[in-house]
Amino acid sequence: MSENKIPYKIYLTEDEMPKKWYNMRADMKNKPAPLLNPGTGQPLTAEELSPIFCEELVAQELDDTTPFIDIPAEIRDFYKMFRPSPLVRAYCLEEKLGTPAKIYYKFEGNNTSGSHKLNSAIAQAYYAKKQGLKGVTTETGAGQWGTALSMACSYFDLDCKVFMVKVSYEQKPFRREVMRTYGASVVPSPSETTEIGKKILQDHPGTTGSLGCAISEAVEVATKNEGYRYVLGSVLNQVLLHQSVIGLETKAALDKYGIKPDVIIGCAGGGSNLGGLIAPFMGEKLRGEADYQIIAIEPASCPSFTRGTYAYDFCDTGMICPLAKMYTLGSGFIPSANHAGGLRFHGMSSTLSQLYDDGLMEARSVEQTSVFEAAEQFARVEGILPAPESSHAIRAAIDEALKCKETGEEKTIVFGLTGTGYFDLVAYESFHNGTMTDYIPTDEEIAASIAKLPKIG
Ligand SMILES: *Cc1c(COP(=O)(O)O)cnc(C)c1O
Repeated sequence: MSENKIPYKIYLTEDEMPKKWYNMRADMKNKPAPLLNPGTGQPLTAEELSPIFCEELVAQELDDTTPFIDIPAEIRDFYKMFRPSPLVRAYCLEEKLGTPAKIYYKFEGNNTSGSHKLNSAIAQAYYAKKQGLKGVTTETGAGQWGTALSMACSYFDLDCKVFMVKVSYEQKPFRREVMRTYGASVVPSPSETTEIGKKILQDHPGTTGSLGCAISEAVEVATKNEGYRYVLGSVLNQVLLHQSVIGLETKAALDKYGIKPDVIIGCAGGGSNLGGLIAPFMGEKLRGEADYQIIAIEPASCPSFTRGTYAYDFCDTGMICPLAKMYTLGSGFIPSANHAGGLRFHGMSSTLSQLYDDGLMEARSVEQTSVFEAAEQFARVEGILPAPESSHAIRAAIDEALKCKETGEEKTIVFGLTGTGYFDLVAYESFHNGTMTDYIPTDEEIAASIAKLPKIG
């Protein structure tokens, strides 16, 4: 197909939207390591997980063998409000860079929550409702997950309690108010409303909080209140499963025009958007049907893949959650307070960790001022104001395209543009004012945090 036939935006029709999620684990030879019970060190059973998570989600979490899982019709109907999301050919960016590379991005910011997180939020709320629960608890960092979950809960008439990392609660009052508009209650974390919150405040007075702290608080509230379960917006296998809708749509859109990507790039916090974007491509790679270069991009200030250790660790600071084997900086690791780019989680999805350990994907870290430079460059030519998280992927996509300019290679680059940055303007402000700094943790800091990993096996 000749190049000029490829439109700026490739859409799918409703009929072409995925009807099943794809579970990469089914095609992995080396399965991700199981979650362990922190008390016994043994793999967690469905019975042990069900006081924390909804039953159907537990089943999805533990399912390493079923490749395709039906997307219930109720969820597909909700998806139709904001999906299919466009796959955009970044003609303007290509021209600006003067690169022979062909750049595409899958834009997930086209909903009120402003990110891909709604894809999993609606699924998790649906299963909670189906189980007859009263509500769910969760944590949120920058606020996208909390916003997505409050939208999903209000759609299914569920109560939603959100623990929001304190620094974001203070810096991002607008997201907090969106959550409250959708009926959620929002508490800054660490808080005095939980035992673990009180303890964290005692041990670290004045802490600005972390996702790990907020998770501990949300889990405590879910397990202590009848009819509540905890839901998580990233990291878990079930979340990657739901997010596979991103990759399945991307692949279907590319297939329409016979396009095969060479490089696939995504930002990585807990790994859910990246895991979702790469899913069908990684599936082909795992089955030996095709090859792709897959790159995870993380902040230099929270470099779990590139400087972390592959080991069992807690997902939360309070050490009450199951243990997951993952690339981690240690559950006590809290990125420097001047880190504004999101992607603050200390660990990484155990599925992606296993794929990375097996050499099936790469990882790079980027510094935040260079991320905001890329964000601004992108905004000026492509029109979308990107989320700082997404801009990590933009940085890497631009770098790859510039390499192609030097070598003359006409690579096809696909990256995930996970969301919009309208609520991240405090971070943009510090970039524009020149007060943004690039704090990179020292080897000693990381080693000190890693030294506190739980001793398993
Ligand atoms: C939450 C978020 C991310 C990072 O989370 P992952 O689970 O790693 O995908 C990236 N981009 C945006 C816009 C987000 O809201």
